[in-house]
Amino acid sequence: MSSDVRCQAATYSPSLVERFYRGIVLPGFDSVVKGRKTFQFADELNQSQWWPVEKIEELQSRRLSSLIEFCWQHSCHYRDAWTQAGLKASDIDSAGDLSKLPLTTRETMRDHASRIRTWLHGQASVVKSTGGSSGSPLRFTIDTEANDRRVAAALRGYAMAGGGPGTKQVHLWGGAIGDQGPLRAAKEYVYSRWLNRRVMLDSFGLCDSNAERFVRQINRHRPDVLVAYTNPIDTLSRIVLERDLSVHQPRAIITGAEKLHVHQRQRIEEAFGAPVFETYGSREFTLIGAECSEHAGLHLTSENLIVEVVDEDGRPTPEGEEGDIAVTDLWNRSTPFVRYLIGDRAVAGLERCPCGRGLPLLRKVVGRQLDMLPTLDGRRLPGEFFPHLIKDFVSIRQFQVVQRTIDEVVLKVIVDQRWSSEQADRLHALVSEGVGRTTRLRIEEVAAIPVTKQGKHRVVVSHVVERSIPQVSRAEVA
Ligand SMILES: [Zn+2]
Repeated sequence: MSSDVRCQAATYSPSLVERFYRGIVLPGFDSVVKGRKTFQFADELNQSQWWPVEKIEELQSRRLSSLIEFCWQHSCHYRDAWTQAGLKASDIDSAGDLSKLPLTTRETMRDHASRIRTWLHGQASVVKSTGGSSGSPLRFTIDTEANDRRVAAALRGYAMAGGGPGTKQVHLWGGAIGDQGPLRAAKEYVYSRWLNRRVMLDSFGLCDSNAERFVRQINRHRPDVLVAYTNPIDTLSRIVLERDLSVHQPRAIITGAEKLHVHQRQRIEEAFGAPVFETYGSREFTLIGAECSEHAGLHLTSENLIVEVVDEDGRPTPEGEEGDIAVTDLWNRSTPFVRYLIGDRAVAGLERCPCGRGLPLLRKVVGRQLDMLPTLDGRRLPGEFFPHLIKDFVSIRQFQVVQRTIDEVVLKVIVDQRWSSEQADRLHALVSEGVGRTTRLRIEEVAAIPVTKQGKHRVVVSHVVERSIPQVSRAEVA
């Protein structure tokens, strides 16, 4: 794809309808009906992204000092952990001091949740959960204002790709699992379609035999921007090319939830004739990084987060080398995440982008790929299906899906005392919906789940996929 085409998404002129939604409908609904500050924060972020890097670093250091002081005062866990390490809050004055503090694992967040959680009178928060791409579910809270800030950062990140608020979008995304009930489904429909100009297509249901229906829906809605899970949009692109299907050309394609490999980007761009923009995020932090039209790396959400790449002792990894990603959330006070190991790995070294934004670029995220499960009925079920579903089963401490043959899937679960046979039956029914009812599915309660040679836990292990993934993909996953 030529660089001219790749830059188009950033230089388009918004239509009148788009401006009406962006300027009046969406901010009005957000502030007046919902009482949120999302659009105010988005406007601030749209300004600060162009600040010089030094000014952004100064902002980070100020917000970090305030967070650390708050944790010292109100979070028993952090105060104890830092005291044990011989530190006090005043030792952390800037982002550069952060590496003095111990790392926080997902297990710590889970096992010490009540001592990490802060309880201030009048602190409004929302509860979130993640199935965990590392296979260990987690429940946590976010202050409502911190939540508005992270939604604002997601709006800013999508806007870098030309997919800001008010643009007409089709989302090929994880659909609702189980019976939602007609009222909730109707509410979702109105919220997505009428308010946000968004058409939702269920990526879990995509297969070779119904792919043309997905193409017809995209052609009918003619979105400005396609937002998609990486593997389903790649599958759809393969089919478009193989069958020489005529497909609507959006302005941009935004991928997320799964790692985007180079060969996938090329195939998607060839099939849709539009530039692909990779995003990186998680349930804990929403959008962590997003590509601009230079496609030079992922611009970090530096006003809200500090992202480090570290070795196993928590020291910064030398530039160019791979390490674990640790994230500190500068806003969430109700469940503070400080140097939290998210379970992904990246190549260290922050770079400047030719676009002129002061937000540094994360070079490359690695080790986030969840295997796909080929199913008997011809689909390729994204591994994301499982964390998406299991996040609602609070009694499951850890899980792993193993597909030995195409018609046999074993779901291993480590459960606590809240687990029951009713839950097992419900889980069985829901997973069967995804993997296909003719597949033999067994749920095994186990005491431990083995890790890989690198000490990593794999959520989805498909021996069927492993034989068919192209060499380039395996090299990047390793
Ligand atoms: Zn840039």
